[in-house]
Amino acid sequence: MFEKNEIVEVTITDCSTEGEGIGKKDGFALFVKDAVIGDRVKVKVLKAKKTYAYARLEEIIEPSPYRVEPKCPYHRQCGGCQIQALSYEKQLEFKQQKITNNLIRIGGFSQEFVDSITEPIVGMEEPYHYRNKAQYPIGTDKNGKPIAGFYAGRTHSIIANTDCALGARENKIILETILNHMEKNGIPAYDEEAGTGLIRHVLIRTAFTGGQIMVCLVINKKNTKGEIIKNQNALIESLIKIQGMHSISVSINTEKTNVIMGKQIINLWGEERIEDTIHVRDMKKEGYPFTGEELTFSISPLSFYQVNPKQTEKLYSLALEYAGLTGKESVWDLYCGIGTISLFMAGKAGKVYGVEIVPQAIEDARKNAERNSIKNAEFFVGKAEEVLPGFYEKNSGDEMLHPDVIVVDPPRKGCDEACLTTMLKMEPKRIVYVSCDSATLARDLKILCEGGYELKRVRGVDQFGHSVHVETVVLLSHE
Ligand code: SAH
Repeated sequence: MFEKNEIVEVTITDCSTEGEGIGKKDGFALFVKDAVIGDRVKVKVLKAKKTYAYARLEEIIEPSPYRVEPKCPYHRQCGGCQIQALSYEKQLEFKQQKITNNLIRIGGFSQEFVDSITEPIVGMEEPYHYRNKAQYPIGTDKNGKPIAGFYAGRTHSIIANTDCALGARENKIILETILNHMEKNGIPAYDEEAGTGLIRHVLIRTAFTGGQIMVCLVINKKNTKGEIIKNQNALIESLIKIQGMHSISVSINTEKTNVIMGKQIINLWGEERIEDTIHVRDMKKEGYPFTGEELTFSISPLSFYQVNPKQTEKLYSLALEYAGLTGKESVWDLYCGIGTISLFMAGKAGKVYGVEIVPQAIEDARKNAERNSIKNAEFFVGKAEEVLPGFYEKNSGDEMLHPDVIVVDPPRKGCDEACLTTMLKMEPKRIVYVSCDSATLARDLKILCEGGYELKRVRGVDQFGHSVHVETVVLLSHE
């Protein structure tokens, strides 16, 4: 057993799901943040348990061959990038391993079986400046100046950084404009503990295809009569000088909560939504050539939209390929957001139903169907685990009761059991599960496979380079 404050020398041989380096000594595991596979390190034990310990990196005695120079000077403090110091190739290997391990450990599948159906992970061509969305917390530094940045890992203390290496390059000038305006006009940042102050977060979304930018300031203010932000017009004047500015709004959030966005959005300038275009490709052909199918989507501030547009094209192309549509099929798209997957499927299916919990996203989805002249897609607002069982009870004889394909793309917590049970009752020929957390994916696959489905194909798509997260697409079949 290790003791607190003990100094230990160890070689890092593995990486935890959270991105910490793992070194083994006398059968004990040491978890070392910021150490990467292959490093020989000197560490100080911080917290010792019976079989493992957490330790702090003191010195890299011999750097790993997989170690690279990170672009961001704050990568160690910031909670966003856990593995920026690991070469991108090795990051992909780690993510592939993470998916496989979860399928074995949580899903109960054998290693051999998983290996036999897993296709090579789809990596990014350029793993920097890929994100189209950022939500910067706003705070105050020691000298009382407003700052924007990111939370340090597992805390709510803000590391000032307006130039994130993963985000759009325009974010810096937008944030500086807002911070300058706050300082000049004495507008206070929100204070989480006291519940006082005004500006909580700034949401910036950039459509990479046309360059349209959306800025939404999340504010702690109930009364929105008259001027909402002091000298609002001056702020708008400065923001609209930035090329691409298309929508400026505020979101009202006066709750003491970790939820970033408030439910009410008030538009201050420009359109309420921005538009982005997605091209799907033929994933079977090498290099993912563009096959000519593209759709344009409008996105409002409260709606979910995939954060990595280049990889989204590959992700959706894969989901389409796995769905195996020929033009006649009936499809449910659960957790459909603004209807992106639903509408791509609609082009190749007979009828598509989308389900989504956020009303604004469904409003967007309906607009998007119209915008792209798609008539065979319908959308329902509600929880998948309520809408689907509700539909199943009330519509006996309907063709959508036993669809050809069900697509699910839930948030990290995965699907609710009521949703999975109804899916099993509906007996679709194929289920395409798109997941941003392979642990809950594996948990849900176990239920679906015990219910009679067979896991056919698995493929990772890296949507989140330098973080420990990875997207996975799987195909299940009942045929
Ligand atoms: N398929 C979409 C959205 C995926 S993100 C896309 O690719 O853009 C997951 C979506 O599920 C979000 O839009 C979220 O609002 C929605 N959601 C979360 N919980 C839900 C639930 N219980 N039922 C239905 N939708 C839910």
